Amino acid sequence: MSKSLQAIRGMNDILPEQTPLWRYFEGTVARLLDNYGYRQIRMPIVEFTELFKRSIGEVTDIVEKEMYTFDDRNGDSLTLRPEGTAACVRAVLEHGITGGGQVQKLWYVGPMFRHERPQKGRYRQFHQIGLEVFNLEGPDIDAELIVMTWRLWGELGLRDAVKLELNSLGTSESRGRYREALVEFLSGHVDKLDEDSQRRLKTNPLRVLDTKNPETQAILVDAPKMADYLDDESRAHFEGLKARLDAVGIPYVINPKLVRGLDYYSKTVFEWVTDKLGAQGTVCAGGRYDGLVEQMGGKPTPGVGFAMGIERLVLMLEALDKVPEELARQIDVYLCAFGEAAELAALALSERVRDQLPNLRLQINAGGGSFKSQFKKADKSGALYALILGDDELAQQVVGFKPLRGQGEQQSIAWDALAAHLATCVVQG
Ligand code: ATP
Ligand code: MG
Repeated sequence: MSKSLQAIRGMNDILPEQTPLWRYFEGTVARLLDNYGYRQIRMPIVEFTELFKRSIGEVTDIVEKEMYTFDDRNGDSLTLRPEGTAACVRAVLEHGITGGGQVQKLWYVGPMFRHERPQKGRYRQFHQIGLEVFNLEGPDIDAELIVMTWRLWGELGLRDAVKLELNSLGTSESRGRYREALVEFLSGHVDKLDEDSQRRLKTNPLRVLDTKNPETQAILVDAPKMADYLDDESRAHFEGLKARLDAVGIPYVINPKLVRGLDYYSKTVFEWVTDKLGAQGTVCAGGRYDGLVEQMGGKPTPGVGFAMGIERLVLMLEALDKVPEELARQIDVYLCAFGEAAELAALALSERVRDQLPNLRLQINAGGGSFKSQFKKADKSGALYALILGDDELAQQVVGFKPLRGQGEQQSIAWDALAAHLATCVVQG
């Protein structure tokens, strides 16, 4: 196929074999969030470039090298969203829905775009489910976010495969003092740092803690620790969070090097990580960003949120064999009809049955065909039962009812009794 007719590298089609699993995952998360009192918000996929520069920060991987940025026809610089928080903050400010301390508990789902090196679990168009809470500053809400994800892992059967890493970055004051101490320490070792870290030391020194370079990691062993620089307020907040996780019995490890890639975090930061996906181990990440709304031109507004990567979680469900069996079957009943008159009767009958059983998954044969070919299609559809309507059945106002999996003889069922009969043998979701 010519190159122009292929999808862009790192941007994937999600084919029909895959979509049931996606919908199961998204549906499970949506129901959970509804049940905890979160409401969905939908933002555009494209925003002014300036929005991301201002919120994510100029000296981050995303803004420096990962954004899909282009000029609109009228010369505005636009960017495909690389994450959801910036647009969500823009939206709440634009519509004034966090004014006067109004609490908002919001979630969103959709594609994000980053120009990264595509590999397993890392794509250029990927999908996140994220949430943001505004105007709640205590550790109780940070804990709720984590408790909800813990419940989600439970529902999906993933609890044993994920680990919670936790850290506190403190208030901006305590983070500022820590940054100074870290810069002073690292400046004494600057010639031994890798190139990236030397650059970050000048632009975004906390990110040096994130390094994958073993020599830099060795130097960091003796670096000052964030925990020693937390002020009383940050410390109390962190303790409050840990107490709540302990109360629910959620295990965690404190990772003092967890700083997150984005500039805007304060106090709580956390990641759910797995060792089941190779290098792309973070499946859900988030934290508190009390300074962000003000930085974007709003009144001081505490905020906290997280985002999870749907591709990585879908990969995990597959890798750990946690795909629910019932997803394999998309249809319960396949209705075969032979001849014009029987087809008309079959259509009318199927609509009557759907009226009575709105959740029945019934596929009616299309395109005609011999008995043999329709039966083959019925079998291939995965349906549990075939219904058969030919001239004889039409004359007697019955359908043939044939189990396709396992035993059971074909029987004749009156049209009027069909819905009631199906209700007894098809489990309806
Ligand atoms: P990573 O360290 O893996 O690059 P990140 O810190 O850049 O992740 P966030 O911006 O916090 O990621 O996004 C939240 C989640 O979105 C990640 O934990 C991950 O599950 C998912 N994610 C991020 N980037 C990608 C990508 N390029 N492809 C697939 N999923 C991604
Ligand atoms: Mg990244």
